[in-house]
Amino acid sequence: MVRKARWWQRGWFGPAEADSIPQDLWDRTLTSHPFLSERSAAQRDKLRWMCAQFLRHKQFSGAHGLQIHDEMAVSIAAQACLPVLGLGLHWYDDFRGIVVHPRAMRAPRQIEDEAGVVHHYHEELSGEAMPGGPVTLSWEDVLNESGEEGYNLVIHEFVHKLDLRDGVADGCPPLPSRDLARRWPPTMQAAYERFAEALALADRFGGPRPWLDPYAATAPAEFFAVACEAYFVKRQRFAIEWPDLTELFDDFFRGADEPSR
Ligand SMILES: [Zn+2]
Repeated sequence: MVRKARWWQRGWFGPAEADSIPQDLWDRTLTSHPFLSERSAAQRDKLRWMCAQFLRHKQFSGAHGLQIHDEMAVSIAAQACLPVLGLGLHWYDDFRGIVVHPRAMRAPRQIEDEAGVVHHYHEELSGEAMPGGPVTLSWEDVLNESGEEGYNLVIHEFVHKLDLRDGVADGCPPLPSRDLARRWPPTMQAAYERFAEALALADRFGGPRPWLDPYAATAPAEFFAVACEAYFVKRQRFAIEWPDLTELFDDFFRGADEPSR
């Protein structure tokens, strides 16, 4: 049953309960996201606590009359918090707003061609992460998450926020150690080029398409976000297909205080 009241904003609960998400709601959230329920008990507990903090500090709003129910907010919070489980919630402290649209948005865009002519067009967006600003999500696309394909819009957009912490969307978030700073650029660049080449070969000669959303080949920032979707949602297959990235991501997302899995 969907609770209509926004328990996390009304402060109904006393200090002891305020840091927790109602058990039945949390259980349903885990059940509907197998990649969350398969985490260790310690990680699930930490995720639940983080989600409560996240919900308390973030501001959800529904566009075009969309009502944000508890189930939706907790689902988004749980998926958004997974990438920062080891890093810490402060990675998301540069924004408050999460705007949820009922379906994909049509965003006005313009581009200037070589002759200096400006062309206006609309782009279909399932989500967007603004530098220092809100995250926008299409609820229809949030629901389209796929464990098989490793597709997950919420993780995708929130990983963009991690990438954007240093102000640049380049597929390289601020790295916590010299070792990672040394390994990250060549490992990511090689993987990105390998993927783009395999995709181009498949398109040209009809060979097998590489596993990962082809959108990953559009830019290094998109490759990072798409790879992370698969890393978090479909870890076993990701580890087989991308062992070098698995090792790199493990070292980054584990953060300073999380023991290795
Ligand atoms: Zn993206």
